[in-house]
Amino acid sequence: MQFKIQTTKSQQFINITNKVAEAVRNSHVQDGIAVVYVPHTTAGVTINENADPDVVHDMITALNKAYPIYGEYLHIEGNSHAHIKASLMGSSCTVIIKDGKLMLGTWQGIYFCEFDGPRNREFYVKIISG
Ligand code: ZN
Repeated sequence: MQFKIQTTKSQQFINITNKVAEAVRNSHVQDGIAVVYVPHTTAGVTINENADPDVVHDMITALNKAYPIYGEYLHIEGNSHAHIKASLMGSSCTVIIKDGKLMLGTWQGIYFCEFDGPRNREFYVKIISG
């Protein structure tokens, strides 16, 4: 299942847990796995805290400190920091489905990670029974 997403900031974590949960519900799969896949080189996906929005804010701050927007990069497009951050977060994540629900912890959310926005983006959710 394909989802389209419009990011609104240059760097932004967007909680997509509800979209993934919707894909799981629509699949009627009770036990299996859900794979979330992001087909971009300057955006990624990760699982982290969903309760305090300061957490994902702090993650962006820390990533910017480690990998500044302007640095000694060779890539002529000028967005190497975004490529690095996207690879760090990863292009996919997998969540176990149990009793028809994502087996996320209470404080876990699935985040689409924009590092070179704002842009029109997309991600895919593949549900596998088993
Ligand atoms: Zn680039």
